[in-house]
Amino acid sequence: MELTNIGTIKDVMSRNGFTFSKALGQNFLINPTVCPKIAELGGCRSGTAAIEIGTGVGVLTKELALRCDRVLAVEIDERLRPVLAETLAEFDNIEIVFGDILKTDLSALIKEKLPDFDEIVVCANLPYYITSPVIMKLLEERPPIRSITVMVQKEAADRLCAKPGTRECGAVTAAVNYYSEPKMLFRVNRGSFMPSPNVDSAVIRLDIPDKPRYTVPDEKLFFRIIRASFAQRRKQLLNPLSAALAIPKQELAEMLGKCGIKQTARPEELKMEDIVALCETLTTK
Ligand code: SAM
Repeated sequence: MELTNIGTIKDVMSRNGFTFSKALGQNFLINPTVCPKIAELGGCRSGTAAIEIGTGVGVLTKELALRCDRVLAVEIDERLRPVLAETLAEFDNIEIVFGDILKTDLSALIKEKLPDFDEIVVCANLPYYITSPVIMKLLEERPPIRSITVMVQKEAADRLCAKPGTRECGAVTAAVNYYSEPKMLFRVNRGSFMPSPNVDSAVIRLDIPDKPRYTVPDEKLFFRIIRASFAQRRKQLLNPLSAALAIPKQELAEMLGKCGIKQTARPEELKMEDIVALCETLTTK
C-alpha cells in the first residue's frame, strides 16, 4: 500500500471512519522521500530494533519495519487500530502499543518487548505539542536506546541543535547537550504533510553515549541551575539565579567570578563547561 499517496490515505481513513485530530498533532507525512531518509539516517538496519512514537497511518512505521528486525510503536489514538491493521497487514515484525508515550514506562516496555536487542533506536515524526517533554523523557529516564531521530518544528530543531553559548540556546539545549550529541539532519517543508501545518519542520538526531557527556557532582542542582538561568533568557543571570538558589547576590557574583563567568553574563552566553563549573562551586561552598 502506498502510504504517502493522498488518495490511498483518504480512502483507508474514510473506510474506517477516521478523521484527523488537531489536538493530537496529527499531520501525516505525504512526501515519499522523507520517511526512508529518517529510517536510514536514524540507524535502522538488520540487527536493530526501532521504537516509534505516533504511527499515524503507518507511513514511517513501514519504512522502519523494512530495515529493522523489529518495530515497537506507541500510539495514543485507538481510532487508528483498524487503519493500521489494514495498512501494515503485510508486516509481522511490528507491534503497536496503544497509550500515551508520556505515561509509558519505556524501560519496562523495552525489557518486556525487546529483550534480545542491544541496538535500539528511536525514530519518529513527533506530535509538536509534546516535543520537549517527549525528548526530555527519553533522555532523562535513560532507557537503553542509542539514538533519537525525530522530526520536530524547525524552530524547536534550531533550539535543540544550537551550540551552547549562542543566542539560540535555551534550557532544553543545555539539557539535551548534557545527555546527548545533537545534530541537525535536514529540513522538511510544510507541504510535505496532510493536513499542512503552519510551520516548517526539521529532522534532528541525538546520539546518546552510555554515560552523560559531562560529569557533575549533583545532577539535581545542575538542572536547577539550568532552569533558573534560562528562565529569563535575555536578562542577566545573576538576579534570577540568586533568587532561585537563595544565595545573596554578592556571594553568587563571587562564585560566578571563580568560574570565569562575568557578573553581567546572560544565560545564552553560558557554555556547558560554565554550568558544570558553577555546579561544582556551589556543591563545595
Ligand atoms: N508517524 C506518522 C507520520 O509521520 O505521518 C504520524 C505523525 S503525527 C505528527 C503524530 C502522531 O503521534 C499521531 O499519530 C498522533 O496520534 C500520535 N500522538 C499524539 N500524541 C501522542 C502521545 N502522547 N503518545 C503517543 N502518540 C501520540
